[in-house]
Order: sequence, then structure tokens, then C-alpha cells
Amino acid sequence: MLGGVEQTLANPVHCRGIGLHSGRPVDLVLRPAAAGTGVLFVRTDTGTEVRFPARAEWVVNTTLATTLGSQGETLATIEHLLAALRGMGVDNCTIEVDGPEVPIMDGSAAPFVYLITQAGLRPQRRMRRRLVIRKPIEVRDGNRWARVTPSRDFKLSVEIDYPHPAIGRQVLGGIRVTPRMFAREIAPARTFGFLKDVQQLQSVGLALGGSLHNAIVLDDERIMNREGLRFPDEFGRHKLVDLIGDLALLGLPLQGHVKAVRSGHALHHALVAEIRANPGCWTVEVPGESVAVPGEPLRARLPGLRPAG
Ligand SMILES: [Zn+2]
Repeated sequence: MLGGVEQTLANPVHCRGIGLHSGRPVDLVLRPAAAGTGVLFVRTDTGTEVRFPARAEWVVNTTLATTLGSQGETLATIEHLLAALRGMGVDNCTIEVDGPEVPIMDGSAAPFVYLITQAGLRPQRRMRRRLVIRKPIEVRDGNRWARVTPSRDFKLSVEIDYPHPAIGRQVLGGIRVTPRMFAREIAPARTFGFLKDVQQLQSVGLALGGSLHNAIVLDDERIMNREGLRFPDEFGRHKLVDLIGDLALLGLPLQGHVKAVRSGHALHHALVAEIRANPGCWTVEVPGESVAVPGEPLRARLPGLRPAG
């Protein structure tokens, strides 16, 4: 997922779902995009099309979900679709949405993985750039924290700890994310919510589309979904989905090990902002090109130059 050439979809693909907050139907079209485009959302219901590049500088809200803003319009709940694109190794894609939120589908990234698989992947004539972490970067909020350290791969560790008998403490460590394992082990993990929170949100006109069809819902003691869980640690795995989607807003694949403890969207975005604010802690690498790396002598990486003697 880190090396090789950039990829886009081989064909356009379409689906329809409902918006988590509005409860209304939303049409979603994923289209191939030129090399170097990145992921670009387009709202098609706003008269003139409003474009939302999937990058950190366009994020306007991180409560409950990740929301992008552009030209006075917003687009919410982008993170599970972004996770699917990054997880499956799609670098360039244009996404058309005819409403203010990406459809929630079943609350996981699996329906988007299915769409991407149906569309197929097409390699492009551009080497994939990647953001390589050279020095640790950390953000903290009380006992919640997120840290990225140098690594040879894109690796994730998460820890969640909810004082609820059906969740508790769940630790997933050193997960090396590849498309195959993402599709099987991470993407199907659904989002979750507590019944009392859902009721509270619905009383103020939010989460109107929220149901047992698109989330794991918990009352004070147990899981209310009849079918139960997809994995014993589905809650922790969904944290991986959110983290992959939020890190995708860096705009480049990340080479580093991210560890997130009791994190949420706000902390993930704080880490992304801290990475962007500290260019001395990372380099952008293009396979096959010589790049100066802090801490290493430049001549050792330039062809034709040899140390004297
Ligand atoms: Zn989520």
C-alpha cells in the first residue's frame, strides 16, 4: 500500500443509502480520477457544484463524525468511505454526493470496500508519494493521547476503554494494514452508540437515520442488536476504521506507527494537525528518487558521489 504506482478505480460505481443525521436517501457515485488528484468530494445538490478536497485543511467539525466545509456548505460522515479508499489502496477518486452527508450504509466500511471491489482498480503512471515519519510526534488531552513514531510500514495500535459491561478495555497492537487484511479484519467493524445518546440526539433532530441497521446500539447493560457482534473486539476494530479514515486527510499514505489511546475524531485530527505543523519530523518520499533525509548525509544517497578514500 506504500510503494508502487498510484491507483484509481477502473470504472465508476454507484450506490444509495441514507444519511445518518437527515434520515434521507443519498446517492453516491465513485469515479476514476487522474493521477495526483487525491480524493475529491463533490456535492451535486447545491446548484453549482461544491468541491471538498479530502484534506485536513478542509475539516470544519469533528464532533460525532468528520465534516468538511467549502463555500459555506458542509459534507459530513466522510471517514468510513475515506478509510475504505485508503485501506484498499485507492489514491485518486472523485466522489459525488447529492446531499450534506455520505450515506452511513451499515455503519462500517465494508459496503464501500464492496463498491471499490466491484469498480476494480487501475494502476496509473505516477509513482506513489508517501509521508515518512522521521521523529515521534504526540498529542495529548488528559488521559487520551495519540502518537506517531518512525516505522517501515503503515502500522496502527489502538486502545479503547469504556466503562460498559459489553465493551470494557480492548487493545489492538501493531496492526500492519494491507488491503487484504483491511477488507477482512477491519472494514466490517461497525460504529457504535449508546441508546440514551441516540435518543438525546434524535430529540434535537440529529441521528434521525440512526438505527440497529447502521450501528451497534447499547443500552445500560448489553448490546441491543439481535445478530450480536461481527468480531469479539468489534468496538476496537471500528476505532481502526475511524483512525485510518482520519489519517487519510493527510492527503498521502503514511509510513509510521500510530498509537491511539482512548482517542476520538478530535484527537485524530489534532495529531494530523501536529504532523502538518512539524515538517522537520517527516519527509515526503517518492520511490526511485533521491531525497535528502534529516540526519543522513546527502552524498550517501546521490548516485555518482562516493565518500573519499
Ligand atoms: Zn466511525
